[in-house]
Amino acid sequence: MERRRIEIRGTVQGVGFRPYIYNLATEHRIGGSVQNRSGCVLIRAEGDRAALDRFLEELPRRAPPLAHIDAISWVDESPLNEREFRIVASEADAERTPHIAADAACCADCLRELFDPADRRYRYPFLNCTNCGPRLTIVTGAPYDRERTTMAGFAMCNDCRAEYDDPANRRFHAQPVACPRCGPRLELRVAATQRGAREADPITAFAAAILEGAIGALKGLGGYHLVCDARNAAAVLELRRRKERDEKPFAIMVRSRADAERICRVNETEAALLETAAAPIVLLQKRESECAAQVAPNNPCLGVMLPYTPLHHLLMEAVRGAPLVMTSGNRSDEPIVHADADLDRLADVADLALTHDRPIHVRCDDSVVRVVGDSVSFVRRSRGYAPRPLPLPVEAARPILAVGGQLKGTFALARGREAVVSHHLGDLDHYEAYRAFERDIALYEQLFGIVPEAIACDMHPDYASSRYAAARAAALGVPLLTVQHHHAHLASGLAEHGLDEPAIGVIFDGSGLGTDGTIWGGEFLTGGYQTFRRVGHFRPIRMPGGEQAIREPWRMALAYLFDAQAPIAERDGARRLHRDTRLVMAMLERNINSPWTSSVGRLFDAVASLAGVRDRVSFEGQAGMELEALAASSTDDGVYPSSLSDGEVCQVDTRPLIAAVAADADAATAAAVIARRFHTTLVAIIVEVCQRLRATSKLDAVLLSGGVFMNALLSSEAESRLIRDGFRVYRQRIVPPNDGGLSLGQAAIAAATFR
Ligand code: ZN
Ligand code: ZN
Ligand code: FE
Repeated sequence: MERRRIEIRGTVQGVGFRPYIYNLATEHRIGGSVQNRSGCVLIRAEGDRAALDRFLEELPRRAPPLAHIDAISWVDESPLNEREFRIVASEADAERTPHIAADAACCADCLRELFDPADRRYRYPFLNCTNCGPRLTIVTGAPYDRERTTMAGFAMCNDCRAEYDDPANRRFHAQPVACPRCGPRLELRVAATQRGAREADPITAFAAAILEGAIGALKGLGGYHLVCDARNAAAVLELRRRKERDEKPFAIMVRSRADAERICRVNETEAALLETAAAPIVLLQKRESECAAQVAPNNPCLGVMLPYTPLHHLLMEAVRGAPLVMTSGNRSDEPIVHADADLDRLADVADLALTHDRPIHVRCDDSVVRVVGDSVSFVRRSRGYAPRPLPLPVEAARPILAVGGQLKGTFALARGREAVVSHHLGDLDHYEAYRAFERDIALYEQLFGIVPEAIACDMHPDYASSRYAAARAAALGVPLLTVQHHHAHLASGLAEHGLDEPAIGVIFDGSGLGTDGTIWGGEFLTGGYQTFRRVGHFRPIRMPGGEQAIREPWRMALAYLFDAQAPIAERDGARRLHRDTRLVMAMLERNINSPWTSSVGRLFDAVASLAGVRDRVSFEGQAGMELEALAASSTDDGVYPSSLSDGEVCQVDTRPLIAAVAADADAATAAAVIARRFHTTLVAIIVEVCQRLRATSKLDAVLLSGGVFMNALLSSEAESRLIRDGFRVYRQRIVPPNDGGLSLGQAAIAAATFR
């Protein structure tokens, strides 16, 4: 007989790990115990050597789906002659710092039960187990147990209690465990404001209405979705009208991978993403299909997800596999509705609502991913991913709170060599979003047992997050670190790749406040966590009307033409529709309300306007997305001229580029050709600047980040050209390159600063 003391680290708590170990040990006739400790699971295993070896070998291979093992280590102990295997109570310390898992899609075992007429949970829309179901969205406090979830109001029946208490059961300590007798129930509301009578079969009634063209509100995992038949153009248009959303693409839900493959092109990486427990929206290339064009107008991509709750599975069955639009339940850009009390906000949008009585505590939007090359790129990292901890390459000697940016708000907590990035909180200008931001920071601090001893925020003093950070730091009496926006983007990329070395950061972005008070966004930085230098940037241009120039790309086109001293009056593009041209010209000539920017996002806008693609945008990044799609459709191999200034700071002169784009537009060159040449030119600029920086700084690691790098074409072409040139190239794959990734970068910088 031998006895081993085995320590397992990683995401091993709250994911069904102890019952798994119990079953595995029993199977191998091993005695001993398993216990949750602070930061690890501790196993004491006693048996004959061969059995112990097999046990250890199989342990990582058959681990539960939501577990993630980082390390297993063991030492010998003297045998105590233990024959039985027990699950022992958690150490007090472990209770204080549990790891909350992310919400997970309905697992295969639960799905089988859902459609098994003999099962007691047959067609029960809220079944779940330790391997799947709601987590973050139902947590109200720490430690994670049923009393501190939104399931607290549901008393378990005897059958559920028996499963919950049985270490050998798949539902052992599954906090949201429920059944038709004791758990949450569906309710159909015929008018969103009226509490209708509970129908005999709400799902069938809801599905029938959707198939007839109605717009429904559906309570999901992290909030309400608005639902309609994606094949019904009139319904989709009506949803756009009611939601006040002109063109921004809607995501769809399809029943299966096969359906996704019928509607879109799906490669293996994309298919794997669709089917992960996180079940994100995956942006896929559209095919000709039954989906109405209005689902994602002028867009070669479609956001597709698979059903991830039992309720979704039942609904997709009830609509007989029709693809359904599933878009966030909100009006225009407001935060998604998640509380039943707020359902009134959707009263004018939805004809009926399918809701239930399990409250959602943490509002959590769907995650959105795209495959670039063969790796994942996040547009939004939220449901299914948050709050999964990320390794931090620099040790946070004291607990850190980093509050992120303004749009696409996220916050991060860091302690030791670990960081947790929150779910997506949206635009913090919205009061509701800001309130959730404040409340969820408090919740995460409680869940992870952290009281911040340093706080990091963006340099922009007017971000709601920055104001919060200043007030909180003062209240706690802890230091506040303000971090330059693009430095945070650089650090975010370095941190997720585990790099602790200086690198070249190519940060192309919409806007972020620079250290000189102007708006940056076309930056070449060198540096690491503690310091950075702005070693190159795009030529600063005026933004006539400030924020308004972001919504109206034609203003940027005029500003670039003005800067390049290119002819304006006789140009079609400028004359076309704008009586305001004169006004904007006057603003440029007299420097009125026209802040400077080096933003590549604005350059994309200007080129889109000059090429005749669009003069106004209805959502952020729209012009850039359309230029990308056009470029991808062209095989033109032309490139525009550009020039780099000499000197300490390398400036990219955009005047030759703009003049050439304008000349192409005047010669009625196809927009796709202009878009293609523009992308090629940007890649050439990136490579040339990086070569120069390598020559002077000896750095060969390049990090591509900033919102513009959500552009898959630009990202993959810049990456492959740089690799061919001998650079090591890093793109963001774990947090978004856009402002959703800022909080991680700020946390890493703060960790390196407060050693
Ligand atoms: Zn399950
Ligand atoms: Zn029950
Ligand atoms: Fe940014």
